[in-house]
Amino acid sequence: MDTAAQRRLILVVEDEPTLADAVVARLAAAGFDTIHAGDGPSAVEAARTHRPDALVLDVMLPGFDGLEVCRRVQSERPTPVLMLTARDAESDLLAGLGSGADDYLTKPFSMRELIARVQALLRRVELVRQQTLLSTGREGGRLRLRGGDGDAARELEIDHAARRVRMDAVDVHLTPIEFDLLDCLARRPGVVASREQLLAEVWDWADASGTRTVDSHVKALRKKIGAEWIRTVHGIGYALEAAPSQAAPRATESAWARGEPGSVP
Ligand code: CA
Repeated sequence: MDTAAQRRLILVVEDEPTLADAVVARLAAAGFDTIHAGDGPSAVEAARTHRPDALVLDVMLPGFDGLEVCRRVQSERPTPVLMLTARDAESDLLAGLGSGADDYLTKPFSMRELIARVQALLRRVELVRQQTLLSTGREGGRLRLRGGDGDAARELEIDHAARRVRMDAVDVHLTPIEFDLLDCLARRPGVVASREQLLAEVWDWADASGTRTVDSHVKALRKKIGAEWIRTVHGIGYALEAAPSQAAPRATESAWARGEPGSVP
């Protein structure tokens, strides 16, 4: 693999010069190429021109805010985003608005933590890319689930290879993290996954203090696919509330279930 030799480009969007300089310097020291933007419009322009591998994105910015930057960038080209928030309250806002951010850090944060989060984000994207390559040659790779009763019954289709989700045959747009979260829960429909387990499998880091991250992404995912699909088990974690659809051929389901090399430690 030649990807190890590739330098990754990170777009840093931060309007406080001192913090921006510090973030850029630390990313450079960790081996990343960087570009910097200090306001909303120039961030969107820089993402379009330079096609970065990831964004480190402040929420409060001149022009328009980080949430809007995130939405505009994601609509043009899905890119992993680490959001920098000034307060905990903003983290809830991120999830509530379904902004498309994959992870967030609350200020003040340590530069070590920032670098670790960026690396985790990129590792995860790379792992998914490899898994997608591995599963492309497989038959099927689709899982269909049914939720609800009678007239309210809906069908959720997860195409693991194409990383695509459809609800009643209509595409649902998920961020990379949201897809991985759903994909992870869908491997074992009805079975509870703990927050720590989801953190380890989806986010690639087992940090008990990061379980809030899981909660906020579940919230965002529920907004997109419907709250009824994901059951909260208080104090433990989450489960996907659905049974495999009759419409899905059994062989396809098991091929899909087997197509997970390396994702479960
Ligand atoms: Ca700011």
